[in-house]
Amino acid sequence: MTENISYDLLIIGGGSAGTTAAIAALDHGASKIGLIEKGLLGGTCTNVGCVPSKSYLRAADLINSNRQAVDYGLFADLSRPDYKAIVEHKNKIVSAMRSAGSKTLEKYDIEIIKEQAVFKDANTLQVGSQILTANNILVASGAKSFIPPIEGVSDVPYLTSTSALSLEKLPESIIIIGGAYIGLEFAAFFHSVGVKTTVIEAAPRPAPNEDQEISSHLATSFEKQGLEFHAGAKVLGVSGDSEIEVKIEKKGEQSRLKGQKVLIATGRVPNLKELGLESAGIKFGRKGIEVNEYLQTSAPSVYAAGDVLSSLQLEHVAVYEGWKAAVNMFSEKKESVDYHVIPRVMFSHPEVASVGETEEQAANRTNVKSVAYPYSGIAMANISGENEGLIKLVADSSTGILLGAHIVGKNAGDLIHLGVMAMQYNIPVDKISGSIAAYPTLAQGFYYAAENLSAKINQS
Ligand SMILES: Cc1cc2nc3c(=O)[nH]c(=O)nc-3n(C[C@H](O)[C@H](O)[C@H](O)COP(=O)(O)OP(=O)(O)OC[C@H]3O[C@@H](n4cnc5c(N)ncnc54)[C@H](O)[C@@H]3O)c2cc1C
Repeated sequence: MTENISYDLLIIGGGSAGTTAAIAALDHGASKIGLIEKGLLGGTCTNVGCVPSKSYLRAADLINSNRQAVDYGLFADLSRPDYKAIVEHKNKIVSAMRSAGSKTLEKYDIEIIKEQAVFKDANTLQVGSQILTANNILVASGAKSFIPPIEGVSDVPYLTSTSALSLEKLPESIIIIGGAYIGLEFAAFFHSVGVKTTVIEAAPRPAPNEDQEISSHLATSFEKQGLEFHAGAKVLGVSGDSEIEVKIEKKGEQSRLKGQKVLIATGRVPNLKELGLESAGIKFGRKGIEVNEYLQTSAPSVYAAGDVLSSLQLEHVAVYEGWKAAVNMFSEKKESVDYHVIPRVMFSHPEVASVGETEEQAANRTNVKSVAYPYSGIAMANISGENEGLIKLVADSSTGILLGAHIVGKNAGDLIHLGVMAMQYNIPVDKISGSIAAYPTLAQGFYYAAENLSAKINQS
């Protein structure tokens, strides 16, 4: 056993938070950094999260666009997708992204240690057969799928988001338990490639954390697409093997749904076990490691970032936190975290993106006005045959500053950045509509929504 190899910083987890922190720490004066990763470098996002799922969703998008191609005088048959080729393409993209990430770390001369780390105390880790010490330690161990205690669940071969990304062949039908981000993204993929898809959501509407109007738009769109969505449905039990039966209760009535596969997409829980957090005096709860506004844990030499915290489990949040934690470990001047302008994108079909407060969340404020501008009023949406959607803006009517922006429709994820900029820099809606948006672009919709909201505020 090698004793006491000493580092400026040891990082547990080579995902988005950990790799960002490693680079940021070097930029802020750390010199010897060890990045400990027990699995694949790149973590969830690169290997089993954002990147592979978005590669599948790009295939789905091409299929869906093709349905409109005939309106433009184009005829291509994408009705029988080659699933094997879709998987191979996804694997190619994932490995290219992973290798780009590894090269960046090599360039920065960060030591990669491919082992599992366990705390011995707040400055010491057991890493494989080695004992490593560091002035600072960052916990960036991520999260894993949460499996709710549904009756019979341990006896059925359920899928998680990870195993659903490596199915050998497409099932004929799939039941997805969970109608929020991950569930609806997988539903978009499976439904688009021709798998009979059913989604079950306990809340009374799809994507229940989104603005009510956005959820309603989704519900209508799912109905039009023929995607079976059961809102307000409680799962009572699961059973079966080659065919899975899911017993649900909806409006007091029980029924049984059948599918060849079942995917459980009911959220993700932080990876806390097996880290030995207690040995280092690090406090944690069910929702994650407890940190202060500088991302420092109850053990002063230990910081934490990413999905292992109770903040939003998103890649850009993990990157932001990884960066902040590194700055706070190695700079004199500490920077607190600020989560009030964090965009959230759901790459479902249709796409949803939001930032800030929903209209319901803003309801307890005194001066609130909102508008919802339809995609059908945007030239580019009509030209491209993507005119179903809306852009909803919620503002403080005393200042005209946005409290939230909510978009459902084509390229919602790109458009939301206009809301992010306006909120981050307190740009009032009349200034947004005072700018010029190019014709014909979807961005014009944001401009029209701001113009309408500005008029509504002026009339009040
Ligand atoms: C299907 C899916 C799709 C997603 N899509 C999006 C998206 O489109 N946009 C978005 O913003 N977010 C998305 N996310 C969320 C995003 O992937 C995560 O928020 C992000 O990857 C979190 O990064 P992290 O560094 O905190 O954790 P991770 O990337 O999970 O990294 C943690 C790493 O720590 C390692 N580790 C854990 N314990 C130890 C230990 N004891 N010793 C050594 N190593 C250890 C793990 O092996 C892992 O590699 C998606 C997630 C999923 C599951």
